Amino acid sequence: MNSASQKHIALISVHGDPAVEIGKEEAGGQNVYVRQVGEALAELGWQVDMFTRKASADQAKIVEHAPNCRTIRITAGPEEFIPRDNLFKHAPEFVQQMLKFQQESGIEYELVHTNYWLSAWVGMELKKIQGCKQVHTYHSLGAVKYKSVSTIPLIAKTRLAVEKEVLETANCIVATSPQEQEHMRSLVSTKGNIDIIPCGTDIHRFGKVDQQQARQQLGINADTKVILYVGRFDFRKGIETLVRAVAQSQLRGKADLKLIIGGGSRPGQSDGKERDRIEGIVNELGMQDMTVFPGRLGDEDLPIYYAAADVCVVPSHYEPFGLVAIEAMASGTPVIASDVGGLQYTVVPEETGLLAPPKDNDAFAAAIDRILSHPEWRNQLGRAARKRVEDKFSWDGVATQLSELYVKLLEQPAVSPKDEAVATA
Ligand code: UDP
Repeated sequence: MNSASQKHIALISVHGDPAVEIGKEEAGGQNVYVRQVGEALAELGWQVDMFTRKASADQAKIVEHAPNCRTIRITAGPEEFIPRDNLFKHAPEFVQQMLKFQQESGIEYELVHTNYWLSAWVGMELKKIQGCKQVHTYHSLGAVKYKSVSTIPLIAKTRLAVEKEVLETANCIVATSPQEQEHMRSLVSTKGNIDIIPCGTDIHRFGKVDQQQARQQLGINADTKVILYVGRFDFRKGIETLVRAVAQSQLRGKADLKLIIGGGSRPGQSDGKERDRIEGIVNELGMQDMTVFPGRLGDEDLPIYYAAADVCVVPSHYEPFGLVAIEAMASGTPVIASDVGGLQYTVVPEETGLLAPPKDNDAFAAAIDRILSHPEWRNQLGRAARKRVEDKFSWDGVATQLSELYVKLLEQPAVSPKDEAVATA
């Protein structure tokens, strides 16, 4: 890296704490993204502080992940879990506390990389007050998301306005796929700078065990056909489609099918309702014996589950990127995904897996049967999937691209907050 070496940068993720356990409550891809990007950027020489909201009294205020990479938890609103749609009212306090932290520690961030619209607002305020540069990643676009849900939350209007303003004013928006960029342009605004830098995955962690070893560890027979889902229990994830597709598989009764639905917290926590609903469907379809719910899969378990599977299914109604798809692919497992968003970028149909229309049980069933009935082809798809991730989606490559972007932006002359106010008046 050049002159920007050792500069302080802040990654802001108000609701997605990079230091929590992933896979439960609302913790998913954004938490993983911020943590991985933060650690990889620190390796490249940046001083990385990741700011998030303190969501429980027993959480540490500061968590050190690696030299030059830490999570800093800001008190903004009560120290308890608050769903993201109710967090905006605490955003001004988040800004004040970040300013206070900078004052007390003597650090001033020249660049902030914000994640999700709540943090976008925080970043825009800091930019106005301090004149820092802002990079933003949406993780989810309200304009797309609200098309796929039946109840629009009260916060929608504010969110859409913030998402438009940040696109038009940030120094750069990072779209994680060409599909996301296209959505921004067609649904949000034609103004503003966008670079495409995908999400990444750890190509050393995923892909280190082969299917046979993984199955031995999990006690699964070599001839069992394993269909895997990994992710949060959220209606938008479309788990119901997968369950119904497996229920109508032509192979049911002919082969030893196993459906593993990994992720989720214990009953009683915030995703419990969707989990209970899915278990209800499994029972109603008489699939209890072939279905397993192993709960949240930790860092050590994930590579083993992906490697053990014959196919990983990502049946989301909408998916801005979808880390699970590239994790499975990195593990040499083909992916059947909904033909939406970032999944259209990561999964190449007929080469690394298959795409099916979202919510289409028949199409998912046909795709699952095709792959499970052709083991040789399945292996060929898996090898191509691994290669695609190595070429395009490794964290190291992604972090290098982000680092180059930051360096470029920091070299551009700073516009003082006063000038900016005049320019945009
Ligand atoms: N995840 C995990 N354990 C689980 C379930 C999910 O670590 O039990 C991780 C998964 O490996 C992935 C992330 O959570 O890295 C989910 O990201 P994705 O982009 O697929 O979905 P999101 O949660 O952002 O909607």
